[in-house]
Amino acid sequence: MPELPEVEHVTRGIKPFVKGQKIEEVIFSDKVIEGKDKGKETIIKGLALDTFKRYTEGYTIYDIERRSKYIVFYIENNSEQRILISHLGMAGGFFVVDKLEDINVPNYRKHWHVIFKLNNDKLLVYSDIRRFGEIRNVASFDAYPSFLEIAPEPFDKEALSHYMAWFDKRLYQNKPIKQMILDHRVISGCGNIYACEALFRAGINPARKSKELNHQEKEMLFYYVREVLEAGIKYGGTSISDYRHADGSTGTMQMHLNVYKQKTCKVCGNDIETQVIATRNSHFCPTCQK
Ligand SMILES: [Zn+2]
Repeated sequence: MPELPEVEHVTRGIKPFVKGQKIEEVIFSDKVIEGKDKGKETIIKGLALDTFKRYTEGYTIYDIERRSKYIVFYIENNSEQRILISHLGMAGGFFVVDKLEDINVPNYRKHWHVIFKLNNDKLLVYSDIRRFGEIRNVASFDAYPSFLEIAPEPFDKEALSHYMAWFDKRLYQNKPIKQMILDHRVISGCGNIYACEALFRAGINPARKSKELNHQEKEMLFYYVREVLEAGIKYGGTSISDYRHADGSTGTMQMHLNVYKQKTCKVCGNDIETQVIATRNSHFCPTCQK
């Protein structure tokens, strides 16, 4: 599942090709059209397909940014502004190509779902093998309130105090710390892989209750989350399953993982254990993480 570093790389990869471009046409795959016909919200959320087209075609992408695990396109047409908010779900991706055949990963070529034809003759293609991703077209972020609840970017100054304040709330006090840091209202963009890695670096067992952490451990964990996210960005993200950059290339963060889907601990040599915490597989070293 793409986490902050992967989404950052997708955003950086497509930005130079789409910023400043007008969206001339939007084309949906048969799966999206069939899904909508059956009343399912296949990828395009909240709007009928013709309404989505009306609020997208003829609009110019004047900016694009990553926010947490979302890619946000700011578009306008004759001073009317809209926002496209996209989440890559489990295995989605954006590609910029001249034609569909140029997508160099067969699965992504086959499972395209939305094509934005740009006026520079490029196609911005949203592909999604499992169709858990989403694209919304909203007038403002107020139309998608859960987006407004996302914690500050982990690299922003206020992110630490925002995260620390969550320890005083009742919600996570008796819950595993792992579950708490996966909530993007607490820390934005930290998914399963980076949460496992940060907990290892901090020497904290993922199943420990949040309220059992002392002040130093809480702060340390935050800094390690930031550190692993930074490492993820530096190494181009983690390419374990389907994740690809916008040009189809892969990241190398998987070479730098200590516990996620690893067999033995690089520090003590003991076996890495796996435990399901809050429905997600947690990988940790029972010796190094207390
Ligand atoms: Zn160990």
